Amino acid sequence: MRYLPSLIVTLTLAVSVLSQTPPPPAVTVIRVGVLIDGKSDQPRRDQVIVIRGNRIESVSDAANAKITAGASTIDLSHSTVLPGLIDSHTHIFLQGEEPAQGGYDANILKYPLAWRAARATVAARRALEQGFTTLRDVETEGAGYGDVGIKMAVEGGYIPGPRLIVSTRAISSTGGYNLEGYAPELDMPKGAQIIDGPVEARKAAREQLDHGADWIKVYMTHRSWVGKNGELVSQPTLTEEELRAIVDETHGWGKKVACHAYNGIGLQRALDGGCDSIEHGLEITDAQIAQMVKQGTWYCPTLAAYYHDWAPADTPAGQRDRKRVSEHGISVQKAVKAGVRIVFGTDMGGIPWTEAMAQEFPRMTEFGMTPLNAIRSATSRAAEMLDMVGQIGVIAPGAYADIIAVNADPLRDINALGEVAFVMKDGQVFKNQVK
Ligand SMILES: [Zn+2]
Repeated sequence: MRYLPSLIVTLTLAVSVLSQTPPPPAVTVIRVGVLIDGKSDQPRRDQVIVIRGNRIESVSDAANAKITAGASTIDLSHSTVLPGLIDSHTHIFLQGEEPAQGGYDANILKYPLAWRAARATVAARRALEQGFTTLRDVETEGAGYGDVGIKMAVEGGYIPGPRLIVSTRAISSTGGYNLEGYAPELDMPKGAQIIDGPVEARKAAREQLDHGADWIKVYMTHRSWVGKNGELVSQPTLTEEELRAIVDETHGWGKKVACHAYNGIGLQRALDGGCDSIEHGLEITDAQIAQMVKQGTWYCPTLAAYYHDWAPADTPAGQRDRKRVSEHGISVQKAVKAGVRIVFGTDMGGIPWTEAMAQEFPRMTEFGMTPLNAIRSATSRAAEMLDMVGQIGVIAPGAYADIIAVNADPLRDINALGEVAFVMKDGQVFKNQVK
């Protein structure tokens, strides 16, 4: 009898441990008509993807697939299936820059932060609806660390949205960012953190990294215009010394620096200062392209954004808008030929979130990318840049179950990616309109 109480305690403990064991993760089987896995050179027909919990367990020919009893099945056998797409340049906190709606400034001047956060929530959902399961969001445009909050809300399951890789406030120099054009007596808020000198530059990077930045975003050029000889000119912002301080600090944290740079001096400083990705890169010289290849610099061109809101052709701004686009196409063509590592980016937010994100794909193919390479730029190549190889941008064992489907063949017509009919993120179906 002496041992009975302790036996009862032991049994009780065993039962409570058993009852606390979570149920095994759900198994889902997807039957696939055509699979573009994000990496391979050739699509594969009649595949079966097995998903356990939020990860892909196996991918195999339908003929050899072992289907677990009790698994739920999703039939995508009449669709083309791809990895969830990655947009490497978005602004969920920006809502278009149309002059009729007050342009950029209205975003910062007129609306409470809660309004901006509510709209960022809608932007995140819209991206997911269009098949984008990961965004590198490159700064909040005056909304501080709001992106860190939205990311937490997505990860906590409170709102639907893509995986967010956030860069918080961004960094530029005095005279290097909006809001501008107001009376000098007014202390106007800015859409980026303003620094002067390498000490302030490093401090800003430290603050942003401390408060949750996954990447640091830097503006290396600001205003642009057409010069005396008809050439595109852009105003450089940070010095090479300032950028070096930011890059050194950020790399020390194991993170990377994205540099907005149009062309000329600022773009050269971005490359010499060791930036990891060039954003926009409207005009890149042959020597700069060679330097990007040598340094392994990423290039996120955001072509489509520059076809919006052109000023009238007979105005200086209108001439600049047209010059930007003509130089941009040439730069992307040269970069494709030279083998620069290119990632897909839309600059959504600069473009209203009501528009289609997939409009960037036909621009990429127009300037020399094959449809398959354009798809890779939004899947496995972007995963490389984001240091998430094998986790996202690929349909393979071990990857997150981020999976989309379209009804037409995107290798024949890239515009098929504009109509995503099925979206799964982390093993959860978010949208299924497959016919
Ligand atoms: Zn941008």
